[in-house]
Amino acid sequence: MSWEQLTNHPPSPIQELEDALFREKGIRVLVKRDDLLCLPVEPGDRAFCGNKWRKMKYNVWEAKNKGAQTLVTFGGAFSNHVAAVAAAGRLFGFQTAAVLRGEPYFPLNPTLSFAERCGMQLAYLSREQYRHKEDQRLTFRSEAAQSLYILPEGGTNALAILGCAELAREILDEAQPDFCCVACGTGGTAAGLIAGFEGRVRTIGFPVLKGEFLFNQVLNLAGENGSPKASAWTLQTGYHFGGYAKWTPPLIDFIRYMEARFGLPLDPVYTGKLFFGVWDLMAKDYFSRGATICLVHTGGLQGVAGFKQRFPLAGL
Ligand SMILES: *Cc1c(COP(=O)(O)O)cnc(C)c1O
Repeated sequence: MSWEQLTNHPPSPIQELEDALFREKGIRVLVKRDDLLCLPVEPGDRAFCGNKWRKMKYNVWEAKNKGAQTLVTFGGAFSNHVAAVAAAGRLFGFQTAAVLRGEPYFPLNPTLSFAERCGMQLAYLSREQYRHKEDQRLTFRSEAAQSLYILPEGGTNALAILGCAELAREILDEAQPDFCCVACGTGGTAAGLIAGFEGRVRTIGFPVLKGEFLFNQVLNLAGENGSPKASAWTLQTGYHFGGYAKWTPPLIDFIRYMEARFGLPLDPVYTGKLFFGVWDLMAKDYFSRGATICLVHTGGLQGVAGFKQRFPLAGL
């Protein structure tokens, strides 16, 4: 797999959804199908996709340029980012290692068994040790550090934001939405969008975690690329469903409805919460008549199998 394949790809499609609700509210609803921007390692796997592709792109380039041999990262046992790093290693010729939060469970869940098939080395830290994970001395011997390329948990760094700014430019090339709605974990994807839109589209972030810390985080991340006007973005903090990877039966019902109604596959950790939030805001007339809304489908579908295994009774 080459750098060419990472850079010379057609833009991911933008799909317009049609529904009586949108006609009644006088709004247009577009979906940027970044979930279809995907480089599988195995037939049908969906790890190196969506915003994880965008965030990894320039990091892969940087790691190659620095002569790094191993990509190292951190995360939870179901992390889309860990899966994406494992896939990137296989696709672009790096060894990979992940430092995981918590005890190992066997058999490995679908995310980690995929990572292991990609050749990723898995190491586990107790939750207490994990809090100090960025202190590399704890984890890696320094003589090896030269050949390591370290990606933070969630993959957000300056190069990730550069990649996500390209997502904004693809959207501007094909549509002129008034609003761009995106799910937020670390806020890196939202920050890249805000930077890339340069004030021409209002970005609405939907945090999937509880807590107000994300507001400053996005501002700082976006601010490194020129400070965005306050009118350029906002967060909707009411759609985390209790916190990261937490869910409720109405969320699962909504995801099943979206699949049946529009053939749109969503995941329960990120995109399901985003779409639920946007539908709720539409019902409450948050968007004025004549508005065009573009939701970013950031991918995340690799996590669905693990969710089903972990919560078999959820009915997803
Ligand atoms: C990782 C992930 C996000 C969160 O991206 P951030 O840049 O950390 O905010 C959103 N959606 C999906 C599907 C993801 O996998």
